[in-house]
Amino acid sequence: MEHPLKVYNSLTRKKEDFVPINPPFAGMYVCGPTVYGDPHLGHARPAITFDVVFRYLQHIGYKVRYVRNITDVGHLENDADAGEDKIEKKARLEQLEPMEVVQYYTNRYHEFMGRLNVLSPSIEPHASGHIPEQIEMVEKILSNDLAYEAEGSVYFDVEKYSKKYQYGILSGRNVDELLSNTRELDGQSEKRNPADFAIWKKASPTHIMRWKSPWSDGVPGWHMECSAMGAKYLGTPFDIHGGGMDLLFPHHESEIAQSVAASGVQPVKYWLHNNMITINGQKMGKSLGNFITLEEFFTGSHDMLEQAYSPMTIRFFILQAHYRGTVDFSNAALQASGKAYERLMKAFERLDSIQPGAAGEFEVNKLSKDCYEAMNDDLNTPMVIAALFDAVKFINAVADKQATMSQEQKDALLKIRKEFIEDILGLKQEGAEAAGKGIEDDLMKLIIELRLKYRQDKNFAMSDFIRDELKKAGVELKDTKEGTDWTRN
Ligand code: ZN
Repeated sequence: MEHPLKVYNSLTRKKEDFVPINPPFAGMYVCGPTVYGDPHLGHARPAITFDVVFRYLQHIGYKVRYVRNITDVGHLENDADAGEDKIEKKARLEQLEPMEVVQYYTNRYHEFMGRLNVLSPSIEPHASGHIPEQIEMVEKILSNDLAYEAEGSVYFDVEKYSKKYQYGILSGRNVDELLSNTRELDGQSEKRNPADFAIWKKASPTHIMRWKSPWSDGVPGWHMECSAMGAKYLGTPFDIHGGGMDLLFPHHESEIAQSVAASGVQPVKYWLHNNMITINGQKMGKSLGNFITLEEFFTGSHDMLEQAYSPMTIRFFILQAHYRGTVDFSNAALQASGKAYERLMKAFERLDSIQPGAAGEFEVNKLSKDCYEAMNDDLNTPMVIAALFDAVKFINAVADKQATMSQEQKDALLKIRKEFIEDILGLKQEGAEAAGKGIEDDLMKLIIELRLKYRQDKNFAMSDFIRDELKKAGVELKDTKEGTDWTRN
């Protein structure tokens, strides 16, 4: 497939041509949520970033299999070896089955991703549904002598692995430093080296979530699920692995090590990482009190928020930054984004009622080219949005009768709206939906457009017929210089 898409690969630390292993198929795996809490802003950024990757790859012709997992085996997020299982903790506090906690927050995640217009992935595998695959991988690593068993747990042997392969290939960390820095911390640990990590962990007697294995009743190590499920659904190797920058080490580094230890092959061709979100310049975190859930954003019910921000405002705001740059959430920035989003959508909405005439001074083909160039340059959505704003001025000038637009220009702009605003950036009008009009609004738009077409063809009998019949049905049309409005009597 011929296309000039370049992506920044965290593995090679440079922009590379995107050439999938088995075109026209493209496989993408993205680390999904751990489901023990309400979806928050930190969930929104990777979901939206890789939603755009998913949409764009399909747009340029790939058949994409997008796998995004649900982490429902309650490991700890930063340390797969120790501490309390977060899903179990929540279950205990709320007197629920752990799987009730999982189901509830999975549903909440889906609901909020839907409101952000994030498409569902092709496959959404649960870690708990893939225990045999994970056990099989642990067995392979053991049989390749790159892991060892201790007291019913199995640990990955980083030192042994790094004699043959490169631990640190992704994060750039120096394995000698890792091994020596941490050596003195060790006391009574089962690990041979503190840099080692659990790939199977024996469950404590009180642990509820547990599975049988050759070594103990226990749980797989956190990194294991992504290695096993990626290989199962996308093969070895596959094209794209995505996630937040915070997952790069140790999660993704360990994923690579496990997969290489099991198969001998680098599991992923392109590693893509989105940067983090800060709130008023501070890293987001529960302890900082700036941990804002999506529901709080959508309703404005958090002390730090001056107002509610709609799902499309959040989506637009995230897309206004390049995915590898940081995004700082502040009320001022969000309010500016909300206004810009409305200006963009309103202008492209006005296109519908524009009556074409002579061609105006605007190069629509250049706009389309600029949009593609921006997307092909490592998915530069802020550049796409900036390019779209060039059209906003032109459309508004025409709608305000300060300029004219040919049918060709109108058609090309409608195509850009469909392709870039709706299909690729995934932005949608939310005013109508919020007012509960939805389909009614869409149908009225269609009827108004039909009437406009009749008028352009000077078929006034038909255009009057539509107006009169609507009036009988209690709907009044009003022609203004911005286009045609409708009201219900
Ligand atoms: Zn993962």
